Amino acid sequence: MNGARVEFRGLRRTFGDTVALDGLDLTVAPGELIALLGPSGCGKTTALRCVAGFETPDEGAVLVDGEDVTRVPANRRDAGMVFQSYSLFPNMNARDNVAFGMRVRGVAAAGRHARAAELLDLVGLPAHGGRYPHQLSGGQQQRVALARALALEPRVLLLDEPLSALDAKVRVALREEIRRLQLSLGITTIFVTHDQEEALSVADHVAVLRAGRLEQSGPPAEIYDRPATPFVAGFVGTMNHLPGRLDGDGLVEVAGQRLPVHGDIPGTPEVDVLVRPEAVLVTPGGETDALIVTSSFRGASVRLLLRLPDGTELTADLPGHNATHFTPGGRAAVRLVDRPVLVSSRTATAA
Ligand code: ATP
Repeated sequence: MNGARVEFRGLRRTFGDTVALDGLDLTVAPGELIALLGPSGCGKTTALRCVAGFETPDEGAVLVDGEDVTRVPANRRDAGMVFQSYSLFPNMNARDNVAFGMRVRGVAAAGRHARAAELLDLVGLPAHGGRYPHQLSGGQQQRVALARALALEPRVLLLDEPLSALDAKVRVALREEIRRLQLSLGITTIFVTHDQEEALSVADHVAVLRAGRLEQSGPPAEIYDRPATPFVAGFVGTMNHLPGRLDGDGLVEVAGQRLPVHGDIPGTPEVDVLVRPEAVLVTPGGETDALIVTSSFRGASVRLLLRLPDGTELTADLPGHNATHFTPGGRAAVRLVDRPVLVSSRTATAA
């Protein structure tokens, strides 16, 4: 299979007064997995459905390898889709579910059964072809749905929250398998999710959507480390909002330090300074005298909730082996890592 380039060009789609897509521009490179990430209602599913052909935009175009497919019917598009809820045909066993599209296309029985067996093998279910959906776990049903989506060798794979109905452990295992499979097939994949951890962990690129528009897109580390806007900063990962004051020289005073600012600088001097929990350095005891309010052990890390002398509370993540040094009620010295921070005006904190 070869991955196609997918382009969203100025997509706009309204439903009555609701603007689901408001001029979405985005390019997905051949063979990459892009995660469309954003809060409920930001237009992720609508964007995906425009690629599948289940939705027609009011304005704009969807291009696949440069060809405008905006008005091409769904059954003539080269896309396979997996939905959130198990959408297998309940009266067909796994093999027939996978072979369904091939049957519709007139592939002979022997050929489609051999191909279905191959695909079930690929998704880790070599012995489950004879089982009906109700005889499969949720994770297994999604594997069958994935095999079915791949059966016609699509050049684009569309995944609409495929893991959100599964329990945590299965979800993580299956997302890693989807990624492994996607990399080995080289198929362009658009993965819709509202789960930022899922997006960061599987994608080559993460596209953060807000109110039907692209807010930022980039590799996961860039989205996390250099969020372009307070919205992205607040939506992706945990973020502290600390009171700060701009000094007019591109520096901000925060928690007794002066740090450089990156990104937009608000018009008012009083700002919120956005600091990741792992950018808070904590040492036991010391003079700054932050109070340790709570300490939660998370295995590889420990998360502290601290209160500064001025009453500001902040969250810090430290390696887990430090847990014993920090107990609630104790004191600790707090310092922020000296690197550029994002600031937002005090009244408009991240959503
Ligand atoms: P979620 O994570 O909740 O699925 P989403 O980001 O995928 O959200 P969409 O499903 O694309 O969002 O919906 C975007 C907006 O358009 C929402 O306000 C939704 O209610 C509205 N919408 C989507 N489809 C329709 C429809 N067929 N009729 C009316 N409104 C719709």
